[in-house]
Order: sequence, then structure tokens, then C-alpha cells
Amino acid sequence: MNSDSLAVMNNYARFDIRLTHGKGSWVWDDHGKSYLDFISGIAVNTLGHGHPKLLSAINEQTEKMIHCSNLFHIPLQERLAYTLAKESALDELFFCNSGAEANEAAIKLVRKYWFDHGESRPQIITALQSFHGRTMMTLTATGQEKVKKGFQPLPVGFDYVPYNDIEALREMVNHHTAAIILEPIQGEGGVVVADANYLQQVRALCDAYGVLLVLDEVQTGVGRTGKMFAHQHYGVLPDIMTLAKGLGGGVPIGAMVAKRDISASFDAGSHGSTFGGNPLACAAALAVLQIIEEEKLLENVVERGAQLRHGLQALQANHSVIDCVRGEGLILGVSCHDEVAAIIKRCQQHGLLILAAGPKVLRLLPPLNVSEAEIEHALQILDQVLEASQ
Ligand SMILES: *Cc1c(COP(=O)(O)O)cnc(C)c1O
Repeated sequence: MNSDSLAVMNNYARFDIRLTHGKGSWVWDDHGKSYLDFISGIAVNTLGHGHPKLLSAINEQTEKMIHCSNLFHIPLQERLAYTLAKESALDELFFCNSGAEANEAAIKLVRKYWFDHGESRPQIITALQSFHGRTMMTLTATGQEKVKKGFQPLPVGFDYVPYNDIEALREMVNHHTAAIILEPIQGEGGVVVADANYLQQVRALCDAYGVLLVLDEVQTGVGRTGKMFAHQHYGVLPDIMTLAKGLGGGVPIGAMVAKRDISASFDAGSHGSTFGGNPLACAAALAVLQIIEEEKLLENVVERGAQLRHGLQALQANHSVIDCVRGEGLILGVSCHDEVAAIIKRCQQHGLLILAAGPKVLRLLPPLNVSEAEIEHALQILDQVLEASQ
């Protein structure tokens, strides 16, 4: 036990591994052991580790300016906002530093929008098993009791419905509903994908009641599913979308993207973030977007995602512990009949990092530029580990 660790709070069940550096899809620990990284810092290291173009964008910007505050126009922030607005067919962005902050901003904007329109709409509906963050407002939006325990009293106005259940939503929604907040794929909740017509039906329901649709793409956004944003698979457009994890390739940045008539409800003083959208974070995010395009990474996600999915399905045929394989692109879940903690640990011993999404689901989140050989290698390790645990 390292005595330095006594000064860090125990709010994570940490693995007994100390990572020191990485290159591409690989990371090394303080004993020099290498691991294939299929966690990517929880869907953050979009380009793996040490991508030379991302490094030089960050290094060049560091020399010019790291931070200047939003008291000034920030040209890189304006360029990033313009790029993401165009990619998403939405209009305006607010920048912050994390997923929780992006969702917090979205909820504030929803409330302010209805205030400005003189309508009493106190209700926000979210899904059971959802995850939206750890601030008081976003843990309240999260449809899991375990994140709320001990933190009452919570903000009021939230109701929850089962995910992928349009009838339950139909019964809940009314003319006092301000917004429905959903993940296109529930990440933390077990890699549960929205059914093909669910999001379209939700959109229609929102339109019928004048309700705002907020899509939390903090985990699914920025290419993870093989499209820039997961909702583009469904042909629906949200009113507000939130982004964070993969956007800066490891540099903290979050964003709320909204239609202009809604974002108009934020004016000077409505909301803010000292660090949000600073030149360093925006330079990193712009480099990530540019590299995704230059290196055709959306295509890579589709191809490598199919390879990984088929490989996992082949494992399912040989290992009875696997119940089913879910996900889209390079966010894949392997739902098991038993708890998966021991499998994750054994994968680590064999040099593969994967994570859980709930007690019984393995989650795989390789970098978007992962190679065919690396996917094959990961599948071999998983096969060995599952073979030994039977
Ligand atoms: C991780 C996550 C969040 C919270 O992001 P933080 O950066 O940890 O605050 C919110 N929503 C979803 C869907 C997430 O996966």
C-alpha cells in the first residue's frame, strides 16, 4: 500500500493498478506490465493515448494560451461551436468541463425556457437505469436509487419511466412536462440500446405535448457508435444534446448543444463556467474532430465494431455465462448470467482492460482508432479468461 494514497478520498472502488503511460490502444503500469486498453478512460480517450496530432495541437496551444476566461471572445471556442452545430444540425453551444455540468446546464436551460414562455412545466421525465451525473440535479435526474442514497433532500420535479417503454412514457407525459431526458444508449445502466422506433416515438410524443427532448450523448457522442452522434442512427433531432467524455480526447471539456429558440433563454448572467471552453480544451476538441474526419474513424468504428460484436457473439456460442451481446459501434456490452467482477480482474492479469456496466455486464470501449489485430487480441484474451472461469 502506497502511503500517498491515504490522502485520496475513497469514493471509487479502484483497481489495484497504477498506470504510468500509454501509446495508441496500449497502457503500461508502474511494474512495466502492458495492457490493451478497452476502457479508454471510460470512453474519453477517443484516439487512444499519445496521438501525435492531438499532442501537437495541445502543445502548440499551451505555448500560445491555456486560459483567458469567457470574459473574452475565444476564437477556438467559436470555431468548435460552429463545427459541432453544423455536425449536429443544432444551433448554439455552451461549454463546460464534464458530462454532469453539461446536463446541469441542459436542465437549467429547460427550466428557464419554460419560465420565459410563461408556462408552468415543473416535470422532467428521465429513464430508470439512466445515468446523467453526480451533481445534485443530475443525480436526481439519474434513474438509479444507489446514486441518491444519503443525499436527500433532492431537487424536485423528476419522474422516471422504464427505458424503451413508450406506453409508460405516454402515461407519464402531460402538458406540465418540461422535458424528457434520455441516453440513446444507456451506458452505465448496462449498454442498453434504444429500440429502433423508440426515439422516434418519443420525438413524436414530445412534439404532441410541446415537450423538449434532451439527449444525453455524453458517452455515445463524438463517433463512439459509428456516427458522430448516436441519435443520427434514428433520424431524430433532439432539442438539446449534451456531450463530454470523448470530445477532448482526454482533455476535460463538456458541451450543451441546443436549438437557437431554446438557447435564447440563456442571456448574460443566466449561466456560466470559469474554465468552460477555454482555448486549450477547444484546441484539443477541434483536433479530435479533425482527426476523426482525416483518419475516417467513423468507418473504422463501424468495421471494428462489427468485428468485435461478431467475435463476442462467437464467444457467446462457446461460453454459457454469456447471455447476450448489445451495443452499437465501439460501445459494446456483454450481458452475463453471473457477476462479472472476477472476469474483469482475470482480463487484467492477462493484459486486457475492460469495465463493467452494472454487476452482470461487461463493457468494452476501445479507442475509435483501434486496429483489427488489437480487436483480435482482446477477443483471444476474453476467450481464455472465459474458458478458465467455467
Ligand atoms: C459519464 C456520464 C455522465 C457524467 O459525466 P461526468 O463527466 O462524469 O460528469 C453523464 N451522462 C452520461 C450518459 C455518462 O455516461
